[in-house]
Amino acid sequence: MTTFSFTRDRIDENELRKQLLDPTAGGYSSFEGWVRNHNEGLPVRHLEYEAFEPLAIKEGERIVAEAIKRFGVEHAACVHRIGDLAIGEMAVWVGVSARHRAEAFLACRYIIDEVKHRVPIWKKEHYVNGDSGWVNCERCAAPTTTDVPHAHAPHIHAPHAHVPHAPGTAHTTNAHGSLNHDTHTSGAAQTHDTHAPHAHNHDSHHHAHAPDTHRAPIDRGATRQAQTPSAAASLATTHARLAAPVSDYSRQMALKEVGAAGQAKLRASRVLVIGCGGLGVPVISYLAGAGIGRLGLVDSDHLEPSNLHRQTMYALADVGKLKAELAAERVRELNPDVDVRAYKLRLDALNAPDLIAQHDLVIDCTDNFSTKFLLNDYCVQLRKPVVFASVYQYEGQLQIVQPDSACLRCVWPEATRDGIVGNCSEAGVLGPVPGIFGGLQAFEAMKLLLNLPGQLKDELLVLDLLTLTTSRVRTKRAHACPEHATSRATAAQAAAVARTNAARDAGPEGANAAANTGPQSANTPTNPLELSFDTLDQAHEAGFDIVDIREPYELRETPTPSAHTRNLPMAELLHGQPSFKPTRKTVLVCATGRRSLAATQELRENGFADVFSLRGGVRGLLARQFT
Ligand SMILES: [Zn+2]
Repeated sequence: MTTFSFTRDRIDENELRKQLLDPTAGGYSSFEGWVRNHNEGLPVRHLEYEAFEPLAIKEGERIVAEAIKRFGVEHAACVHRIGDLAIGEMAVWVGVSARHRAEAFLACRYIIDEVKHRVPIWKKEHYVNGDSGWVNCERCAAPTTTDVPHAHAPHIHAPHAHVPHAPGTAHTTNAHGSLNHDTHTSGAAQTHDTHAPHAHNHDSHHHAHAPDTHRAPIDRGATRQAQTPSAAASLATTHARLAAPVSDYSRQMALKEVGAAGQAKLRASRVLVIGCGGLGVPVISYLAGAGIGRLGLVDSDHLEPSNLHRQTMYALADVGKLKAELAAERVRELNPDVDVRAYKLRLDALNAPDLIAQHDLVIDCTDNFSTKFLLNDYCVQLRKPVVFASVYQYEGQLQIVQPDSACLRCVWPEATRDGIVGNCSEAGVLGPVPGIFGGLQAFEAMKLLLNLPGQLKDELLVLDLLTLTTSRVRTKRAHACPEHATSRATAAQAAAVARTNAARDAGPEGANAAANTGPQSANTPTNPLELSFDTLDQAHEAGFDIVDIREPYELRETPTPSAHTRNLPMAELLHGQPSFKPTRKTVLVCATGRRSLAATQELRENGFADVFSLRGGVRGLLARQFT
């Protein structure tokens, strides 16, 4: 049978009920939501429902399947009206047949609550005064009163005084004045038991968070006394089965910009977070809460006591443990929907490309330049957006690098950034500062993933939290930006690299053989752009001039691992006066081998056939040294 469907016609509950008949079932419970004549004090004349059907049906079927599995019921189904409805008409029907009534009640309630939360159905109310308005999820806007922790226990939802789009009219209040105002239970279950249906729904409510039935409900009213110990035990068993509540995104799905379609986008997204510290903690928490499909968490550090004032996702007892693992564990606790993966490593030129390529979006939550620039370079190359943030004492900045926007190197071609981005341990920081910037990063990430308006692009946002002033600095895509030179790589260049690799992989002589072919063969298709050496001294001995084209600050951080080199930053190499004119075979070196490849390509185009790029750059050499 169809478990979830929409209909434009009147719902025939008797026909539907027949489909749930089962000789093994001793209980049947149903819910009917009726169109009532008022809402929020306004008299309602009639209303309309609209649904985003493909997604809605999928989600509805999922909910019914969850209910069947979770409560162990025999059959369940839900039908929702769409189109124009008059007062008193049935807007939604849920039916459940089960061996025992308790499961039937619980499954029935679960289905209607989840349908109202998760299924993209919009309601338009037409008021007597002639006005009308779309209402997505009133419940989300309604103040919660008591029992707030129930937000994550989908089978209860007692605090929500209003049922959003399928107003039930029956049983408006009870002894507590807050529960079950709309649950309409069929008499079938009562034949099975003398207790009024309410009693069980109440119990389900209270026991939901206390599987041990000792915890006394606040007020049971008369029906409470009718509860026998054995009935309580059977409910306890039922509740034990419901142990795991499911994630609930209703509060964000209620936004019309999000809805079910947006939630589906978030669920389909893969986000890589580099750094699980002060910036990473809010980023990870919010993205996990939002239901991002996959979160990759990269960090090689262990938690220190001094981290905790700003990294509040962790506990003092966690000190000494790896943050990536701790953060992943927290994500699993917060939202088991998220496929979280911990990478206990420091991002470097060798592991970055694969990690980045496996995700849709990267968030930089590090406090060091070299990682930021490494991320910048690879993300530009791999055309992945990356959300950067940096904090320094009481201020910070936010920049998003997208494939067609300015990158970090466009903005900072020379600067060392020292003093702009400080290290928390040296400069000091108050906990909320990275918290705020991490929050901004999470929000910008969601704007990107949901394609919301107002994305930060080609601008650097600087926020001073002491004065609460913001400034936005235009960032321009720089023509001479080395990383953008790399990303402009033509198809021909890519093909040349591919040929090089194929040639190298073809024979054991590899790149060294190619290196020894000399300038005369430079224009043949198999002449490589890139060469591999184990050390630069090896290249020197093979007769190559070695030119390190990195910026001076990069050399200060990581000197060229050879004495036989000279430094000529890329811009000078390509556009300096006088321009670089290699007379011997030359190998160009940069941090990762990408800038040197771009420069090699440009020099080849200018007729210098005996220029080569060192594959993997300095990082590749150092990695080989230590392995
Ligand atoms: Zn750039």
